[in-house]
Amino acid sequence: MKKEISAVLLDMDGVLYHGEKAIPQAVEFMLSIRHFPHIFITNNPILSSEEIADRLQRLGFLRPNTEQIITSAEATALWLSQQKENFRYFVVGGEGLHMALREYGIEDSQAADFVVIGEGVGIDYDAISTGINLILKQGACLVCTNPDHSVDAYIDGEHYVFPGGGALVAPFSIATEVEPVFIGKPHALLYQIAMDRLGFGPEHCLMIGDRLDTDIAGAASLGMHTALVRTGRFSPGTEIPDSLPIPDWDVDNLAALLHLV
Ligand SMILES: [Mg+2]
Repeated sequence: MKKEISAVLLDMDGVLYHGEKAIPQAVEFMLSIRHFPHIFITNNPILSSEEIADRLQRLGFLRPNTEQIITSAEATALWLSQQKENFRYFVVGGEGLHMALREYGIEDSQAADFVVIGEGVGIDYDAISTGINLILKQGACLVCTNPDHSVDAYIDGEHYVFPGGGALVAPFSIATEVEPVFIGKPHALLYQIAMDRLGFGPEHCLMIGDRLDTDIAGAASLGMHTALVRTGRFSPGTEIPDSLPIPDWDVDNLAALLHLV
């Protein structure tokens, strides 16, 4: 690693694995940086840190400590607890988000301070109606775990596209004309929690991700070094639209990165 890089932040989906399949060379890459301070940050709020650590181990990676994994669900719960102690919330999203919120707040669909939207199942007509009434009638704040419009998913090796947090929060936002507070990448909070845990400032951190609009854009705006791996959102050789930020390194896979940084 270059002298100025002292710690690594890694996205996981599309960088280390596709669903239940490790990406070739990712296991070796993680072994080679195992003594280097590193942390995993993900916009995916569906799985808990514990479940992600289990998955990494199952796929052949060394099992990280759960403190080394920060999900947008955990960052959301932390942020809400900083806004209001023992906050009340109405939540629509996957189990990982429910678990994270339960640690800090009280579920209350009658008198919620926050309407929290995350990826995963749960959104329907009733949920949207409850959420928009809490926002419009009781002044609840609309919060979303991550702004991705869509996310890649791999089930039994097949690629699917699922709606992201940004798409799922849209009905609430449109019906109320209230802009949501977004927590995940490219917003600063996930990176900030990671840097606090690592004990390094942005100029000493390298962010490795497969998405330019979230992973790389957020890290670059904070002043981190950035590396795009073309094992997820972008394939090797694909042209990158001009509207997206340019990473410091643009490599086909993690093995190539090891020789460069
Ligand atoms: Mg990814």
